Amino acid sequence: MDAAAALFATLSHRAPEGAWSAPGRVNLIGEHTDYNDGFVLPFAIDHRTHAVVGRRDDARIRVTSTFADEPVEVAIDELDTLFPSDGDVAVPEWAAYPLGVAWALRHAATAPALGVDIAIASDVPVGAGLSSSAAIEGATAAALNDVWDLGLDSVALARVGRRAENEAVGAPTGIMDQMAAMLGRADAAIFLDCRSLQAQVVDLGFAGAGLDLVVIDTRVTHAHSTGGYRERRESCERGAALMGVRALRDVDVADLDRAREIMEEVTFRRVRHIVTENQRVLDTVQALRTQGPTAIGPLLDASHASMRDDFEISTPELDTAVEAARGAGALGARMTGGGFGGAAIALTPHDRVDAVRDAATRAFADAGFSAPRVFTVIPSAGARRDG
Ligand code: ADP
Ligand code: MG
Repeated sequence: MDAAAALFATLSHRAPEGAWSAPGRVNLIGEHTDYNDGFVLPFAIDHRTHAVVGRRDDARIRVTSTFADEPVEVAIDELDTLFPSDGDVAVPEWAAYPLGVAWALRHAATAPALGVDIAIASDVPVGAGLSSSAAIEGATAAALNDVWDLGLDSVALARVGRRAENEAVGAPTGIMDQMAAMLGRADAAIFLDCRSLQAQVVDLGFAGAGLDLVVIDTRVTHAHSTGGYRERRESCERGAALMGVRALRDVDVADLDRAREIMEEVTFRRVRHIVTENQRVLDTVQALRTQGPTAIGPLLDASHASMRDDFEISTPELDTAVEAARGAGALGARMTGGGFGGAAIALTPHDRVDAVRDAATRAFADAGFSAPRVFTVIPSAGARRDG
């Protein structure tokens, strides 16, 4: 927040209107289920993106970030000509996130075009599968919702963030990240039904059980991540069409025998991942509620195996991280996020965290991979006004 405030002072001589923030997230379980109308169980983390915002006398938006070479300024009336774009967006990519949020907000609610200055700073690692994108969207949406007095609720703001990411930035993602960033709670996860958008808070109780959630960031993003994501979505749509359902959410584990008979092998494995992963989310919620967090390790392990073997979105780095963590005493581990790189998570007894860090670092060195970044995250609050 201090960095955002300092940046704001370079942008404007006025006192800011306030400071808002939104967190990154880790998805505990439920991968690629969101766009299949299924279930996910993310939690907000203790890494946040901060937006310090002030009013202007005109009807323009100026936004800057610690990322940016220079501020980007547009008239609020021009937002509709920028987004949605059919090709090259006329602003730098980073600016499409906050300006896309402003654009989507103006379509979600009516309000006078009140000019604002926005300064953004973040400690959410970018491209590590922790959704720095939902954090910047959430911080901007929460801020402008207040400054423009729009009165939208958290779910509406999550939809705004998703629309910005889908249509202004052009990234075809589901709603999970924005919901986690908006609704997160300390020491809890958000159990989200991606069809109804109903969300339930599920206590995690990691600290009470002496557990830490370790993130092993491989620092690798593979080139085919965008193409691979699109391909997986297409496979899921094909599988749903062949099964005669609206989305794979409507297929039960018991229906998989039939699925195997009516589709070719690769599509079947993609379908099997989604169907079993949905069930694993339900089982994880049940286990957390009845047995506590020490019981969910095998579900995390099974989720990883399914992504590695059936959905084929893991990488050698992610597999190495997961195996090293388990070997060093983690109760369960899996890759998290969209795959093709990014981070793995390992649910780890507090006194094994150093061993997991050492084992992952050593395994990466032995395999000739560049060193991973290993850190713990704490389930934390969602978007909020800080000052
Ligand atoms: P992630 O997995 O971190 O969400 P994405 O590719 O979805 O990765 O989003 C990362 C992009 O979001 C960055 O490349 C940048 O364009 C934008 N972004 C994230 N955080 C910031 C920030 N603090 N300032 C400006 N842009 C940001
Ligand atoms: Mg993202």
